[in-house]
Amino acid sequence: MATLTKTLKLPFLRLNRVKADAFLRLERLNTEVANTILSMPKADQRKLTSKSFASVEIGSAWINQTIRNATAKTKVKRFRRLPLETNNQNWTLHSVGDTFSISFGLLRNIRKRIPLEVHSASHRDILIKLQDGSAKAGSIKLLRSSRGIWYALISASMDVPDARDSGRWIGVDRGQNIPVAAATPDGPVVFWKAARIRHVRRVFAERRKKLQSMGKHNAIKKLNHREQRIVTHLNHCISKDLVALAKRLNAGIRLEDLSGIRNSAKQRKSTKADAGKNRDYWPFYQLETFVRYKALAAGVAVDEVCPRYTSQSCARCGAVNKRHKHAYVCTRCGYKAHADANAAMNIRDWYGMCCPLVLDAPTGGPHEPALNPVRQAAGQPAA
Ligand SMILES: [Zn+2]
Repeated sequence: MATLTKTLKLPFLRLNRVKADAFLRLERLNTEVANTILSMPKADQRKLTSKSFASVEIGSAWINQTIRNATAKTKVKRFRRLPLETNNQNWTLHSVGDTFSISFGLLRNIRKRIPLEVHSASHRDILIKLQDGSAKAGSIKLLRSSRGIWYALISASMDVPDARDSGRWIGVDRGQNIPVAAATPDGPVVFWKAARIRHVRRVFAERRKKLQSMGKHNAIKKLNHREQRIVTHLNHCISKDLVALAKRLNAGIRLEDLSGIRNSAKQRKSTKADAGKNRDYWPFYQLETFVRYKALAAGVAVDEVCPRYTSQSCARCGAVNKRHKHAYVCTRCGYKAHADANAAMNIRDWYGMCCPLVLDAPTGGPHEPALNPVRQAAGQPAA
């Protein structure tokens, strides 16, 4: 069994002004407490308990979490805002008919029940699971959006069946020309078109340049946030599609192990300078995180393989060749393919060594590899 943790972001239903003001005031107080903690020497920080802040009107369970958050190993020097948070023992979920509510005591000794708005059916399912005990409640956090709406962030963890390894894999390549190319087990390669992504990158890079020359740093910050939101959205879309595809084809998802790839993969200067083409610009790490998470929830296996030579090796005979932009042509067996499709197929068919051995001499025409090193090792004991 694997454990899946989800965080539900639920707005409070018709939160009255008094409560909203109280939340805001207490959050500011909480931030002050956190900043007081940060200003203390480390040795004193370790001795802190909720009693150290007994004069603060926020409940001790919340203060305990604030102490944990403030003393956690972060590089934060000062919190601009630290949301109120507490662990699973200090809030309870209730339901009356279709309306869910949570009760918690934000102030010392005062417990209030506040209804929540539940929009999606999946959120409702998890809330029901929390009530019947099939999901475990985690912490709760009170968060105010930039529009001034208050949300309860509730975390819930539940067991999900382990992903089945069907022996079928979808090879996913972070393309040089196309952000994502996925080689399906039965052949066809699916591409996620780059046009939108390139457009986003280029437009924002240009705007950033302009703002930089004008020295408008706040505007740049805002612009970056907006770009980040679009990028995150696109990554959500791609990962959702990919996991759905894997589920439909009864296959797992095989990704490249990207740790340390930036140092090894070289790009031309002209490519790097163009925000639309520069590979490092697209946050593949985020995409991978999303894929892993969604795959876990859907019972889809995820595998990671060594990315070396995946773009240079021939998917048919394993010979190493140079790619020419979009085209991959094998000088050994004559195999032709889209370069990113070829790489995706290599990732899909990865055996534990980067290329299959072909012991018979090529005769020019297309042929299957005669032996695969792993199968050989398993079948015949070493002489
Ligand atoms: Zn070849």
